[in-house]
Amino acid sequence: MAESVELPGRLAILPFRNKVLLPGAFIRIRCTSQSSVKLVEQELWQREEKGLIGILPVQDAAETTSMDSMLSQGVGSESCERSSNAQVSTSDAHKVDGKNPSEVIHWHNRGVAARALHLSRGVEKPSGRVTYIVVLEGLCRFNIEELNTRGPYCTAKISPLEMTKSEMEQVEQDPDFVTLSRQFKAIAMELISILEQKQKTGGRIKVLLETLPFHKLADIFVASFEISFEEQLCMLDSVDPKVRLSKATELVDRHLQSIRVAEKITQKVEGQLSKSQKEYLLRQQMRAIKEELGDNDDDEDDLASLERKMQNAGMPSNIWKHAQRELRRLKKMQPQQPGYNSSRVYLDLLADLPWQKASEEQEMDLKAAKDHLDCDHYGLVKIKQRIFEYLAVRKLKPDARGPVLCFVGPPGVGKTSLASSIAAALGRKFIRISLGGVKDEADIRGHRRTYIGSMPGRLIDGLKRVGVCNPVMLLDEIDKTGSDVRGDPASALLEVLDPEQNKSFNDHYLNVPFDLSKVIFVATANRMQPIPPPLLDRMEVIELPGYTAEEKLRIAMQHLIPRVLDQHGLSSAFLQIPEDMVKLVIQRYTREAGVRNLERNLAALARAAAVRVAEREQAVSVSKDVHKITSPLLDNRLAEGAEMEMEVIPIGVNNHEISNAFRIASPLVVDEAMLEKILGPPRFDDREAADRVATPGVSVGLVWTAFGGEVQFVEATSVVGNGELHLTGQLGDVIKESAQIALTWVRARVADLKLAAAEETDLLQGKDIHIHFPAGAVPKDGPSAGVTLVTALVSLFSQKNVRADTAMTGEMTLRGLVLPVGGVKDKVLAAHRYGIKRVILPDRNLKDLVEVPAAVLSSLEILVAKRMEDVLEHAFDGGCPWRQHQHSKL
Ligand code: ADP
Repeated sequence: MAESVELPGRLAILPFRNKVLLPGAFIRIRCTSQSSVKLVEQELWQREEKGLIGILPVQDAAETTSMDSMLSQGVGSESCERSSNAQVSTSDAHKVDGKNPSEVIHWHNRGVAARALHLSRGVEKPSGRVTYIVVLEGLCRFNIEELNTRGPYCTAKISPLEMTKSEMEQVEQDPDFVTLSRQFKAIAMELISILEQKQKTGGRIKVLLETLPFHKLADIFVASFEISFEEQLCMLDSVDPKVRLSKATELVDRHLQSIRVAEKITQKVEGQLSKSQKEYLLRQQMRAIKEELGDNDDDEDDLASLERKMQNAGMPSNIWKHAQRELRRLKKMQPQQPGYNSSRVYLDLLADLPWQKASEEQEMDLKAAKDHLDCDHYGLVKIKQRIFEYLAVRKLKPDARGPVLCFVGPPGVGKTSLASSIAAALGRKFIRISLGGVKDEADIRGHRRTYIGSMPGRLIDGLKRVGVCNPVMLLDEIDKTGSDVRGDPASALLEVLDPEQNKSFNDHYLNVPFDLSKVIFVATANRMQPIPPPLLDRMEVIELPGYTAEEKLRIAMQHLIPRVLDQHGLSSAFLQIPEDMVKLVIQRYTREAGVRNLERNLAALARAAAVRVAEREQAVSVSKDVHKITSPLLDNRLAEGAEMEMEVIPIGVNNHEISNAFRIASPLVVDEAMLEKILGPPRFDDREAADRVATPGVSVGLVWTAFGGEVQFVEATSVVGNGELHLTGQLGDVIKESAQIALTWVRARVADLKLAAAEETDLLQGKDIHIHFPAGAVPKDGPSAGVTLVTALVSLFSQKNVRADTAMTGEMTLRGLVLPVGGVKDKVLAAHRYGIKRVILPDRNLKDLVEVPAAVLSSLEILVAKRMEDVLEHAFDGGCPWRQHQHSKL
């Protein structure tokens, strides 16, 4: 910028409509009107050195109050044009451009001299009109002395307004000016630093701030703002440097404020937008990177496939809406963000659940269903009949809300396999939900998703696994659920089994209702007592008492052996287990109500046989190659078995002969020796009771456990002491009390039972009694050992052995009455399994014997007892010990 300009006395005037060019500012205008083109042509274009022109603001009367504060360069040129016309019209009776003739033009009396920095000429086609584009730099203010509007363009006589150098120096000394300059500088610096941050362009302006005098800077700063025309005029009129500085300071400050406000607003808006925009951007970048890497299992695809899966899941509309909401949330999340995964897993579950998918129920063939049941299960006539009825009702009324069947019985009696047969008969899928040990309600209902590691309950999880909404669902071991501080699973099960409520089962994790009404529930339990009554009330109990040895044999021969052979890749051509051997397995290696251990033992035989067959194959191929048999990989026990020696195939035998060698090789037939080798020495034998009851003080009781009935020995002995009673064998309170009652009863009847000479004699004088229930590790409780305890004590005091072939059960009152007990059927079966021949039962339990299979009853002598004396009568050889006493005395 020129330091000082020599102004001529007269200048060509280019009017600017509603726009001011301030000194130090630059402007690019396009001149199209006749007068302006003429002016440029004559004053600038045709001159050797670029001349000066005056820029004078003009103002429409209409726009003195309201006007566009900003005129773009194009508009600026328009202004030039119109101003030129205005000039003309001023001289031609105020007509402006053929527009409203009443429009009055105000010429400002101060202008700014400008120098053309750049000129370019253009010819418009097809009119051939000449136009100019001019870049002007404002230099200094001038005053109009006289305006001449006649001629092709305006000219004016002017006088300079800027101070001379010396005048300026004087002003610079003025303390007011110094203060004003300082203020201006401070505020200008502030503005620059803001601009610097925003546009990184402050550097050049900063240099100007250091080099130019303040009064000039004031113009330059203001020229760069968007301010109103009036303010621009005011700035032009501020000839006094002090006035100019204070005006500029005010304007810069205002500009600064408006920048700050704008910044605040954008920050606010950005704050809201930027996070999602940033995520979007990053996701786009990630996708691009993955595309580059050819990594297709990208999150977007993943979510798209999830969405597809959800669409196909057939969710009810309200749940679909819920799922979509959750999906939208997921889409906004980053995979690394906490909660992404849990949300993903949740949606997966929603998509996987069989909302509508069901196995098609074919027209049920009752005959086939019956055959299927018969074919899969031996015996169980009544139970199969009940299931058959159940199926028949379902056939007639498929949507009937039939009862929930609950199979109750010891392990291995076929509860699970019956349930799966029901599923097969109905043509439905089968799913087993194990409830054993479930103490937490959340296991049934799920954990709320707010918990870390939350999961759906077992039912919903089971339905997800089975993939249809109408499976047969087995609630296994429903008696093993317990309640504690974590809630009551049984009450949740109540809801599940209630046809009215299970239409909208609410799993806490799922958080939307799921319809369980199409599921057919079947339950199993070992015992009925632990099942809460309300739950029991919803089910129809079907008891499976356990099998007799004969039934077990049939089950083994018809079902277990073929299945076990098949499971081990064998057939009867390789392994044969004769009936006698199965009997031995039943008698010596198992003593259970069901057939699970029997199946296990048979499987052990099959495994051993499989090893032999496999090794035989190996031996054949090896013998061919190396001329001798390598030592077999049998386990030691088997390796010693002479009866299963390897066959040596001589070299040169052709393949046909080799394969024949297998066929010809007779199948392994299990015998007693092999049984012992594979299964070990017998675990049980019939002599057990006889051996254990060989001394006085031991009696045989029958108890009931979750595994069915059991034989329980009771041992009593006396030692020197102070008349105390010691009890061992993990006993509960009830059984301890039974022992007290038994001892009291015996002591009270010392004379009657002839256990001592006189009634006054105390049996416990100088003695302690110790009663032990073997299998000390197993907890025991219940009142049914009463009669057994008394018998053991009488045997001890009378020194007479109890009969080894007799077992007993019954609760006893203090007065010696024998009360009925539970689980008689299981106990009788257990006695039968143990090879017991005589069973003493309370008189009132006789009715329970109808449930005992006839085959068992026929092999047992059932003895009834009303009073304790009856028990003793039956328990000892030759009747009651006291009678024998009497006999011997006689
Ligand atoms: P639970 O559920 O009562 O514990 P399972 O149903 O698992 O018993 O039965 C154990 C095994 O015994 C199964 O392989 C089953 O097929 C077999 N089983 C039980 N009872 C019979 C039966 N009456 N006929 C044929 N197989 C049976």
